Amino acid sequence: MNNFNLHTPTRILFGKGAIADLREQIPADARVLITYGGGSVKKNGVLDQVYDALTGMEVHEFSGIEPNPTYETLMKAVDQVRQQKIDFLLAVGGGSVLDGTKFIAAAARYPENVDPWQILENSGSEIHSAIALGSVLTLPATGSESNQGAVISRRTTGDKQAFKSPYVQPRFAVLDPVYTYTLPPRQVANGVVDAFVHTVEQYLTWPVNAKIQDRFAEGILQTLVEEGPRALDEPENYDVRANLMWGATMALNGLIGAGVPQDWATHMLGHELTAMHGLDHAQTLAVVLPSLLNEKRDSKHAKLLQYAERVWNIREGSDEQRIDAAIAATRDFFERMGVPTRMRDYDLDGSSIPALLAKLEEHGMTGLGEHGDITLDVSRRIYEAAR
Ligand code: NAP
Ligand code: FE
Repeated sequence: MNNFNLHTPTRILFGKGAIADLREQIPADARVLITYGGGSVKKNGVLDQVYDALTGMEVHEFSGIEPNPTYETLMKAVDQVRQQKIDFLLAVGGGSVLDGTKFIAAAARYPENVDPWQILENSGSEIHSAIALGSVLTLPATGSESNQGAVISRRTTGDKQAFKSPYVQPRFAVLDPVYTYTLPPRQVANGVVDAFVHTVEQYLTWPVNAKIQDRFAEGILQTLVEEGPRALDEPENYDVRANLMWGATMALNGLIGAGVPQDWATHMLGHELTAMHGLDHAQTLAVVLPSLLNEKRDSKHAKLLQYAERVWNIREGSDEQRIDAAIAATRDFFERMGVPTRMRDYDLDGSSIPALLAKLEEHGMTGLGEHGDITLDVSRRIYEAAR
């Protein structure tokens, strides 16, 4: 196991009615800005519950944070934060609202003479302060509710880039599985696939002897495989939703990634597909991952065999046959969730691959994966095999 330094300071308020404990998480004299997306939280009543919980406090709101939140929209919120002297941000929504709010939190405290897009260009390393934030999650998927990361897009340049900073880690996350009942099937499926791929990016790497992390990861993967399809069939099954919600949080709160090599190439290749073609985040992962696992089958050999046996119960056949079967099972799972796994399923014929590679290069993504050996040439093969 590698050395690690793990601190997971997000308080988790989990379960039906957890919103009741929201108020005591926010300083009584705070000037609060609620941030949300396109209105799902208005329609399903979650926003009303948040307002009820904050009765008597000074509360403002900013809405319209879009899926794959954009710099252009978020900078409007930064202006509002400065004008209204906001000192607490409360994100109510999915990963996009959370990520966007993390950007707002850091950008509002960035030196005023520097364009906050720099936060993305230096991956968050120059963030030295941020407005405090908390979250009420409505879409289990990204893990953003209890981690340091965020992914922001910029319309004018066609970029989608990530940053990370301990200053933007949410102070708390309200996780009420009931809030997820109103998710459309496409978003339920996206969430399951995203959480699955987060786990794989930290688990299916060059083997180190990290048994706790491995077995936690395998438990998360098995749970997603079991409960994902059930969530589509039984949208109001509380236990199914609760297991998925906690699974998605656990997949990317630092725990399974501590002390192990991490890959993240699937995410980086996927971000370019979203930025250029507008695919949902999870759709891009479903396209890239099977192809990447096949491409990296030699360096991930031992771990792929462990994955085949422990996650998919594949025990028959030669090593290569078991690896093939595990990759096929992964693809089949995404397809069963209703997330297609080939570029052509999204009307992409591969003609944009050179442009995708140029964007990867522009973003410095020329040595990806846990060994840094996914060069542009390897990325090209991964994209090509994903057509
Ligand atoms: P999302 O983009 O936040 O939301 C997708 C859609 O779901 C929105 O249209 C939203 O509608 C709707 N929605 C959310 N909750 C709902 C509910 N309870 N009922 C009905 N509709 C609901 O999706 P996401 O998958 O959570 O986030 C994706 C983003 O996160 C991507 O940009 C991705 O790159 C990023 N990401 C971040 C991390 C991280 O660690 N920070 C990791 C992976 C991915 P409204 O807008 O109307 O609310
Ligand atoms: Fe993701």
